[in-house]
Amino acid sequence: MSRTTARFKIITALIFLIFLIAGGWPLKKHRDFPVEIVCGPGVTDIKKLSDFFPALKGSVADTYVFVLEGKEPGGKALIMGNTHANEPEGLLSVAIMIENAVVEKGTLYLIPFFNRSASLNTRPGEGYPLYFSITTPWGKKTFRMGNRDASPLDQWPDPDIYIHYPEKQMLSYLDIRNTNRTWPGRKNGLPMEQVTYAAMELLRQEKVDLAIDLHGAETMFPVTNCIVAPEKSMRIATLASLTVKSMEGFENHLESSPEKFRGLSHREIGDYSETLPFLLEAPIPFLDQPTGPKTEKLFLDGQDEFLLSLAKRKKLFVPYDESGWPLEKRVGQHLSVSLEIIRQYSRKTPARAIIIKNVPRYAEVVRNGVGYYFHNPAEAEMDKVIKH
Ligand SMILES: [Zn+2]
Repeated sequence: MSRTTARFKIITALIFLIFLIAGGWPLKKHRDFPVEIVCGPGVTDIKKLSDFFPALKGSVADTYVFVLEGKEPGGKALIMGNTHANEPEGLLSVAIMIENAVVEKGTLYLIPFFNRSASLNTRPGEGYPLYFSITTPWGKKTFRMGNRDASPLDQWPDPDIYIHYPEKQMLSYLDIRNTNRTWPGRKNGLPMEQVTYAAMELLRQEKVDLAIDLHGAETMFPVTNCIVAPEKSMRIATLASLTVKSMEGFENHLESSPEKFRGLSHREIGDYSETLPFLLEAPIPFLDQPTGPKTEKLFLDGQDEFLLSLAKRKKLFVPYDESGWPLEKRVGQHLSVSLEIIRQYSRKTPARAIIIKNVPRYAEVVRNGVGYYFHNPAEAEMDKVIKH
């Protein structure tokens, strides 16, 4: 090898290394960035999914379960955010409950980062922001923006075809990392199958009455602004949907959970446990394909000129104008619909009632903003601040 060739190779390798470090370092920082949640006065215990399925202990996929138990015994509800970590409205709604809710009767189980690995993942190739920040009375609170699926760093390689367990339906290979396709999970399966298996164990061991899975969807997708429920949950879902529409004035409709589409929380939780499942969708313009750049601003205010022109041509499934679809509307909807499902269930089943105080509803969140409900970790007692 001539000296010139050797020099060329060394320089090329160095340039490659510089690109590798420059590109990889922000992703490493994102993966290590801790999101802080301040436990409010209602939190009575902090568990992890591994308490219900020990095989998860010590893995990245293990995640916190906040327990809010009322003084009076009653029913039990599980609420999950970040099943899809690119739909963080669920995480924010659950975090508001952890920081503020007080349960008087019954028990709430709250999982803010259901697919924790997905919350450590991102979509750098699509120009996604790595973080988003929310204005609070005490400054900015920053969250990781995650991805729909678990990180390949935590579960890899993907199979050529994903065969759902135990229903044997063939699903896209990608969905083996999607915790809304791996229900009801598999004890000795891949990590995301174990995450949903652990959640099923929580529901079965604790005899949980209701499970609410918080999501968001494109404005161009018909399954948005809605509650998805199987037949067994439909009565409660119908009452909740009609009540929020008439009393709180935002759009909400019902979608029935298809029996033949397997792996989804609203299908498998109902089929494999006594729990009544519900999946909530709020419209997230940020998720739509024909938008401008995927910026933090678009995520926060949901304003986009391309969607606006599509709305004028009646191509969207939600009402849409210059005001976009801001975060406070999306989080407010999730909180109101979740509270209403719990309230309707409690009215029908008084012995298993769950009474929750101090959680804001739609109009309050729209008026005050999401950040209003978060507490300053710097001013909280150290053992009340959970970093995840
Ligand atoms: Zn989703």
